[in-house]
This record gives sequence, C-alpha cells and structure tokens, in this order.
Amino acid sequence: MTTLLISHPSSLRHVTPPGHPERTDRIRAVEQALEDERFALLQRVQAPEGTLAQVELCHPAAHAQAISEASPQQGLVQIDADTIMSPGTLAAVLHGVGGAVHAVDEVMSGRVSNAFSAMRPPGHHAESDKAMGFCFFNNAAIAARHAQKAHGAERVAIVDWDVHHGNGTQEIFWGDASVLYASTHEMPLYPGTGAPSERGEHGTIVNAPLRAGDGTDVFRDAFESAILPRLNDFRPDLVIISAGFDAHWRDPLANINLKETDFTWATQKLMEIADRHAGGRLVSILEGGYDLEGLSKSTAAHVMALMRG
Ligand SMILES: [Zn+2]
Repeated sequence: MTTLLISHPSSLRHVTPPGHPERTDRIRAVEQALEDERFALLQRVQAPEGTLAQVELCHPAAHAQAISEASPQQGLVQIDADTIMSPGTLAAVLHGVGGAVHAVDEVMSGRVSNAFSAMRPPGHHAESDKAMGFCFFNNAAIAARHAQKAHGAERVAIVDWDVHHGNGTQEIFWGDASVLYASTHEMPLYPGTGAPSERGEHGTIVNAPLRAGDGTDVFRDAFESAILPRLNDFRPDLVIISAGFDAHWRDPLANINLKETDFTWATQKLMEIADRHAGGRLVSILEGGYDLEGLSKSTAAHVMALMRG
C-alpha cells in the first residue's frame, strides 16, 4: 500500500506581493524536498480542478461566486489585509479543493493507504462566508464533508497542528457533532480564536493552545492529554490533518519551537488513531509554514512518516 502525493503547477501561479510570507517559493521548497530518492515510492498525481459544487459543501453559493467574480484579469486584488488574489489565484484555489477531494476519494476507496495534498494557498482560516488569513476556501472542511457525502463516513476528525488556530474549520463545524475539530496553536496569536472554552455546540471542538516559547514537551503533552484521548473516544472513520509547519522553531510568523522530529511523532500518533478506528484512512493537507528550510524539512519528515519510513 502506498502514500499518494497530490500537487499541481497552479500552486505556483497564485502570486502575492513581494515580502508576503505565503509565496510561491514555499511550494518550490516542498517539491524539492520530496524529489529526494527517499520518496521514490510515493505515488504522484496532479490534482484535478475542484468544482463549485464541492466548494458549496462548506461555503454558501454566494461566497463561492463572490470569490470567482473577484478574480482579477491582471494585477492584484486585495480581499483582506493579507489575503490577495492574482490572475492565477482562482485556479490554484480550485485545484487545492480538487486535491483535497481527490485525496479523500483515493483513501476512502482503499486505492492508497494515505495521501498528502501539497498545494497553496492554505485553507483553515476560511470561514463559511469569509476569505481571510491567506485562505479562500476551506480545503480540510470540504474534504471532511465530501468523505461524509460521497463515501458514507459517519465521523470525521480534523486535527490541526498549524501554529495558527483554524477559526474557519471551527466555525464551519461549530454545531456539527459528526466532525471533531482538534487544534494546537500559539495563543495569543492571529486570528485570536481557539481558547479551550470554545467547545462547539456538541463538545466536538477541542482547543489546546500553546504559549509563545513552548516546544516539544508542551506540544506532545497537549496531544497526549487533550487531543489523542478525545480522538479515541470519537472513533473517526477518517482522520484529516491540517498540516501547517509554522510551529517549527525557525518560522518567522510565530514563537513555538517544534523540530522536524515532533512532526514525525505527531504524524505517527495520528496514524495509530487511524489504524485503530479508521482502517488507517488518513488525509493530510498542507496549511502554513513560512520558513523555507523549516517547511521543507518538516514536510519531508511528515511524508516519510506517512510512508511508514
Ligand atoms: Zn499558520
């Protein structure tokens, strides 16, 4: 059984202004890292373009339409203070959606063991009707809904170790007992949500914030004490990872001090959950990560663990 790597060249055509941390070089760094011969056994595929019907699994049609219509013919359009559209953005965003959906299709059908969708822009800040924080549509949330609608998954767990709280994913599933959303993130930090008291209408939101300066020990303790027991109780049919690598010690946007080995460890812990409850079914989706060396090394560690290497 294999690990599937999903990518698409449109990720390189979403252009942000000079100095913007969410830049094309991120994907170049990830792709270069995964070209190493250690990854020769990856199955590789280009993402299909996602459809508006897939977007509408988690976003109102009016929001999907508004993003489509905001797409510029030339130049850049500012959606919020740090969320920018270039002429290539809409295709990148739709392939991000299509990649997440394809990952679910391949994993739920048993054609691959697990899958990693390595595309940009990220998605976890996108709320149902609001693009923000570099994000337009919420890939992880769409993947979860697609697993339920197209493949009959009853319970889906989304685990988000990006250093920023996934306010969008939390908002989308706030009132939904069939999706568990669990997050470690630095707090206080953008976007400001993610306190432990934010638990959702059914107690299926699990926030385990970290403080600036925290590292390996506090992160692993948050997983072992707050997140893994809840995942075991929830018994997911599919595990989705919102895999941001900006909690790496080198990252310029935050102050958490994780190492590549922490991402290996967390990946293995979530694979154990998937093995125990979900027949090993696990889909991982790239979110943030803004230091190119930290991002590429962490992604390599994560994917190597997915390959059970
Ligand atoms: Zn982030």
